[in-house]
Amino acid sequence: MPTETFEFRVEARQLLQLMIHSIYSNKDVFLRELVSNASDALDKLRLAALRDDTLDADVSDLHIDIEADGEARTLTVRDNGIGMSYDEVAELIGTIANSGTAKFLEQLRQADEAADAEGLIGQFGVGFYSSFMVADEVTLVTRRAGETQGTRWSSRGEGTYTLETADEAPQGTTITLHLKPADPENQLHDYTSPWKLREIVKRYSDFITWPIRMTPQAPAGDDGDTPREPETLNSMKALWARSRDEVKDEEYHELYKHISHDWQNPLETIRLQAEGTFEYQALLFIPSHAPHDLFTQGYKRGVQLYVKRVFIMDDCEALLPPYLRFVKGVVDAQDLSLNVSREILQQDRHIQMMHRRLAKKVLSSVKGMMTAAPDRYATFWREFGPVLKEGLVTDSENREALLAVSSFATTHDAAEPTTLKQYVERMKDGQDAVYYLTGESREGIENSPHMEAFRDRGIEVLLLTDPVDEVWTDAVAEFDGKPLRSVAKGEIALDGDGEDKPAEDREKRNEEYAELLTWMKEQLGEDIKEVRLSSRLTVSPACLVSDTGDLTPALENLYRSMGQDVPRAQRILELNPDHTLVKGLNRALSDRADRTGLAEDAELLHGLAVLAEGGRPKEPARFTQLLAERLERAL
Ligand code: ADP
Repeated sequence: MPTETFEFRVEARQLLQLMIHSIYSNKDVFLRELVSNASDALDKLRLAALRDDTLDADVSDLHIDIEADGEARTLTVRDNGIGMSYDEVAELIGTIANSGTAKFLEQLRQADEAADAEGLIGQFGVGFYSSFMVADEVTLVTRRAGETQGTRWSSRGEGTYTLETADEAPQGTTITLHLKPADPENQLHDYTSPWKLREIVKRYSDFITWPIRMTPQAPAGDDGDTPREPETLNSMKALWARSRDEVKDEEYHELYKHISHDWQNPLETIRLQAEGTFEYQALLFIPSHAPHDLFTQGYKRGVQLYVKRVFIMDDCEALLPPYLRFVKGVVDAQDLSLNVSREILQQDRHIQMMHRRLAKKVLSSVKGMMTAAPDRYATFWREFGPVLKEGLVTDSENREALLAVSSFATTHDAAEPTTLKQYVERMKDGQDAVYYLTGESREGIENSPHMEAFRDRGIEVLLLTDPVDEVWTDAVAEFDGKPLRSVAKGEIALDGDGEDKPAEDREKRNEEYAELLTWMKEQLGEDIKEVRLSSRLTVSPACLVSDTGDLTPALENLYRSMGQDVPRAQRILELNPDHTLVKGLNRALSDRADRTGLAEDAELLHGLAVLAEGGRPKEPARFTQLLAERLERAL
C-alpha cells in the first residue's frame, strides 16, 4: 500500500495545536501517557494469549523499552504488546474518537485564562497526543499480534498525518519522538537524559506491572562491541498488595491516573484487604470530578479485575452497583480462574459478596469524609450526589447508609446543603415530617405557591432539583422514623392551624365555601379530582397538589420519557379562602343568577395555579385570550 496522507479532523487539529503550543506546564506527563498505553497493550496481549492458544504471538518477555539518543534527539518507547492493525491505527490514532474531546474543546473555547485551559487539560487528559508537547514529529510503527503486516503512522502534528504499511515491523508498538530543540536555559527538560527518564518513570510509572527497561546509550567512540545491559527502571510492585505505610499518597495517585486516564488526583483513596477463605485486595478511588459522560448510556463503569496480580479485565461492572459507577480502581482476587468471563462473574457467589462489601466500604469512606474532611465531602456531593441518589431507589439494603451520606439544598441556608440528620435536629416542636419539594430549579421551587405557609411559619423545606429526586422521594418513605413528605402532595395540617383557627372555624369556613367548591369541581370536570380549601396558601389564590398516593406530573413525564405508559393522575385544586379573588368569586356565586361569566373565572383561576407551579395551561391560547379580555375590562 502506498503512503497516504490524511487530514486530521477539526477537533484533532485544535487539540494538537494546543499540544504543540503546550499550554500544559507539566510536560513530563507525556511519558506517563505513553508508558500507560504500552502497559495496557501488554495486558491485552497476555489476556489474548491466555484465551486463544493458537494466537501466533511471543509472550515470553513482555516489557517496555525506553531508548534515548541525545545526538539525534530522539526518544523511543517500545512495547511488544498487542499492537494495532492498519484500521485500528486509522481509527484510534488518526482521529480522536474520544467523545469527550468535543466537550473539552467547547469548554476550552469558553475558558479565556491560560490557567483554566491547563486545568481543563488536566481534567480530560489527552493520552498519546500529549507527545506533541515535547516532540515536533512523532512516528509510530506497530504490528498487531498474530498479523504479519505492520503499519507506520507519522505526523508533525500540523494538520496532516501519513499512513503506510510496514513490512519489517516487530510485534507491538514503537513510538519515536523527534524531540523539540533542547532548551539551553533548562537542562532539566532534556528528555534524552537517562537521569531525567529514570526520574519520570520512577515518579509516574513505578507500579506498572511490566518491566520498563532503559538501555544506556553507547558512549561516543564506542564501536558497539561493548555489551550494554538494560536497566529496569520500575519496581513493578502492585500497590494494592503492599502495606499502607510502605506506599506514598503520590504513588496511589499515579496508579489512579493510569487506570482512569484522568490527569487530576483522586479525591479519596480506599483500601480494602479481605482475608479468609476468599481473599482479595481492593484499591478504589473516588475521582475529584465527574466525567462528562456519567449519565450517558454507553458509560464504561467498573473497576479493573486482577487475578493473582494478572490483569483480567477493565470495566468489571459486577463488582460495584451502578450508582457507584464513578468509582475507579483495582480489585485483585486470589481464587478466581484466569479464564473467568463477564457472564460467570455476574453469577458468582463470591463476586456478589465482594460487590456488597465494596459498596459498603465506599459508603463508609464517604461517611468518614463528612466528618474528617467536610470540604472534600462537599466536592464529592457536588460531583456525584445525583448518581449516588440512584441508589436510594435501587439498593434498599444500603438505603440507610445512603440517606446518611446524602445532603440536600434547603430553605434553611441559601448556600450550604443539609443532611437529613441536621434537618431533623432543627425540626420545630410538633413538626412531624421532613418536608421537601421537587422542581427544576431552586428559584422555581422557592417561589412556588406550595411553599407559602411553610415560609410564613419558618418551617424548613428541602429543595430537590435533580431529576432523580422525583424518583427516590417516591420510593423512600421515611428517615429516622420521620416521614418524608412533599409540600405539594396530600393535605397539609401544619402545627399552629389548631391555635389560630379552631376546628369550629374551619368547619364554618368549609360551609361558607361549600357551594363554590362544588361548583368549581363541576366547571373543571375531569381535569380535577377535587376542589378544596387550602392551608398552605397565604399569598396566591390557588394551587394544584397531588393526592398522597399519586405520581407527581414530573414523575409521570419521567416514566413516559422512558417509554412506560402511566395514566395521568388527576390533581387537586386548592383555593386560598383568604384571597380577595376567591372571596369575590364566592360572593358573586351566591349573588348572581347568571353564572356564564363566572365559568371563565373558574378556568382562569385553574390556569393560574397551573402556571404557578411551572406547568402549561391546557389551552394556552384560550387562556391568554381570556386573561387579555379581563385586563382590558379592568383598564
Ligand atoms: P487513551 O489511552 O486515553 O484511550 P490515547 O490517545 O492515548 O487514548 O490512545 C488511543 C488508543 O490507541 C488506545 O485506547 C489504544 O487502543 C490505542 N493505543 C495507544 N497506544 C497503544 C500501544 N502502545 N499499543 C496498542 N494500542 C495503543
